[in-house]
This record gives sequence, structure tokens and C-alpha cells, in this order.
Amino acid sequence: TAKQSGKNVVQFYSRELKDSSLRRMELEAALRDAIENGEFELFLQPILDLSTGKVSQAEALIRWRRPDVGLVFPDEFIPIAEKTGLIIAIGKWVIQEASRLLSQLHENGQYIKLSVNLSPAQVSDRSLLHFIKEHIETNEVDPTYLELELTEGVLVNDFERINHFLSEVRKLGVSVAIDDFGTGYSSLSYLPKLPIDFLKIDRSFIGELIDSESNKAIVLAILAMAESLKLGVIAEGVEVESQKAFLSKHRCQSAQGYLFSRPVPFDEFCKLL
Ligand code: C2E
Ligand code: MG
Ligand code: MG
Ligand code: MG
Repeated sequence: TAKQSGKNVVQFYSRELKDSSLRRMELEAALRDAIENGEFELFLQPILDLSTGKVSQAEALIRWRRPDVGLVFPDEFIPIAEKTGLIIAIGKWVIQEASRLLSQLHENGQYIKLSVNLSPAQVSDRSLLHFIKEHIETNEVDPTYLELELTEGVLVNDFERINHFLSEVRKLGVSVAIDDFGTGYSSLSYLPKLPIDFLKIDRSFIGELIDSESNKAIVLAILAMAESLKLGVIAEGVEVESQKAFLSKHRCQSAQGYLFSRPVPFDEFCKLL
């Protein structure tokens, strides 16, 4: 009867809720220990220069090797880390580890750039700049090989502070990319005003590039805008040859995606080079 099934629905929802909040609490507790226990790892995904076909840089993407669970992807724990403030410590680990990997790459004679993702909260953390500087120095890394990726969302918050942060980053010699470009709700007027170097075209525009006239138009508009603002462009989420061909034809500088390689552990990345 309706009454019975109504009751079942309520039971179902409360069990679901309990499961998910329990899961969150477990996850939060485990996250706190994960840094100390050395459970994080940076995977690298190559970014290719489309004119030469060679790997010109790589993006560092965090993975959590959780004992008894396996590999956990960032979409599952970064939002929780952001809510709890743990992102500050995790973000510092990422910068430290990326500097270490960069110096190892350079030791191997591989001079490619490495980019790391920053969460909005990290940009507001006043100690971050000093931290970056310190780790570049201790690892004797050439800062021009380090790049920070920020999403558009960060830029709308507090223009003056972001502008100052990015200028200081630039003074260190580190470069800046706008990640997932085209998906934020920010105004385009910030673009020429901020010290940025690259736009990363969001993969939602690349995914259906070939079948969608409107996505093609958006990608072409971003390429034209980047050219006149003298910004580099990286297309994200290139999965098939036809997407690469379209991007090459329209002189998109760089591309990243499963067509070339998934993000892989450091050792595997070195072999791939
Ligand atoms: P993102 O920075 O936009 O990174 C690109 C994501 O797209 C990565 O997912 C990558 O594996 C995936 N990807 C690359 N090529 C393709 C493709 O051809 N097709 C498809 N479908 N996907 C592709 P991942 O590694 O799961 O990371 C997800 C997001 O988590 C990242 O998006 C970034 O926002 C965040 N993230 C990753 N590492 C960090 C980190 O160290 N710190 C912070 N704050 N956020 C991070
Ligand atoms: Mg990114
Ligand atoms: Mg992205
Ligand atoms: Mg993203």
C-alpha cells in the first residue's frame, strides 16, 4: 500500500543519510592522518606542444593511496579538505612534493614545466607565498618551471588581493594558469588586468567539440582572445584524434588528455618521456 511504501522511503532516506554522514566523518578522520602517514601521491599527466608533438609540461594531480581502500581520486576528498581547512596542509604538501619531483626531473635532464592546482582557500593563506619560495630554494628548482593553476572562481572574490598574490607569484618567476576556463561566471574584464600566463580551456568544450557547432565557436573565440591578449592556451580533455586535429588546425598551442596519456605515477611518467 501507499502508506507502507511511504514508510519504506523514509527509512531508505534516513539510512542513506546516516551512511553518507558516517562516511564523511570517517573520511575526514582518515584525511587528517593521511599527510603524516605519507598516503598522498602526485600523479603526472603530460601536456603536449601540438606543433612539435613533444611533452612540454605536466600537471600534478593528487591521489590518495588509502590503506585497505585503494586509490582515492581528488573529487572525493578535495571538497572535504576544503570544508575542513585541511586543504591548507594538503596544498603545502603538494607544493613541496611538486618541487621535489621537479628537481628529480631536472636531475634526469628533463626540463619540463610542472603545474599544481590551488584551492581558493590557499590563495587567501598569507604564508603560502613564503612557503613556495622556501621550497623552490631548498630544492634548488628553477621557478620558471613551476606553474600554479587557479579556477576563475578565485578571481572574482577580492580583486585587489588576488592581483597582489599573483604579482608576487610572478615576481618569484612562477607562472599562472586559469584552469577550467569558460565554466566560471566571472567577467572577462579581469583577464587583461591580472598577471596570468595561460588559459586552460575546460574539457566540457573539448569533449563534444566535433559534434557541436557552439562548442567549436567557443573554442575558436577563446583561441582568438588568448592570442590577442598574448596568453598561452592549453586544451584539456582531448580524447580523440579529431579533437586534436581541430585544435592543431586552429593553432592551439598545447593539449592534455587521455588521447596522449592518463595521469600516471612519477616513475611511469619518466618512462613515458
Ligand atoms: P583539473 O585541475 O581540471 O584536472 C583535470 C582533470 O581532468 C583530472 O582529474 C584529469 O585526470 C582529468 N582528465 C585529464 N584528461 C582527461 C580526458 O581526456 N578525459 C577526461 N574525462 N578527463 C580527463 P582528477 O585527477 O580526478 O582531478 C580532478 C580535479 O581535482 C582537478 O581538476 C582539480 O580541480 C582537483 N585537484 C587535483 N589535484 C589537486 C591538488 O593537488 N590540489 C587541489 N586543490 N585540487 C586538485
Ligand atoms: Mg588543473
Ligand atoms: Mg581543469
Ligand atoms: Mg577541475
